Amino acid sequence: MSGDLQLDVRGCGQSWAVFAGERRVSRYFTRDHHAAGAATRLAERARLRERACLCCGSAFMSQGPHNRLCAPCRRDPLQAMTLGADDA
Ligand SMILES: [Zn+2]
Repeated sequence: MSGDLQLDVRGCGQSWAVFAGERRVSRYFTRDHHAAGAATRLAERARLRERACLCCGSAFMSQGPHNRLCAPCRRDPLQAMTLGADDA
């Protein structure tokens, strides 16, 4: 479980699904673009992981290495740190 998830949309006619290698990772769709949409969502979810915010230290769901600040800190770091202080 490392590196990028390689997802393929495979199927024909009215039966399409997302595959990771030989393993099917989505349900079957009747349209190929629905399966492609599912592949995009699966790839986004695979990149999500919980990280500690570099600013306030609270855990949040990061979208990848570029995403190291929680949403409140990206908007307003000072306010986020003030709000985070009241759970002591
Ligand atoms: Zn933060």
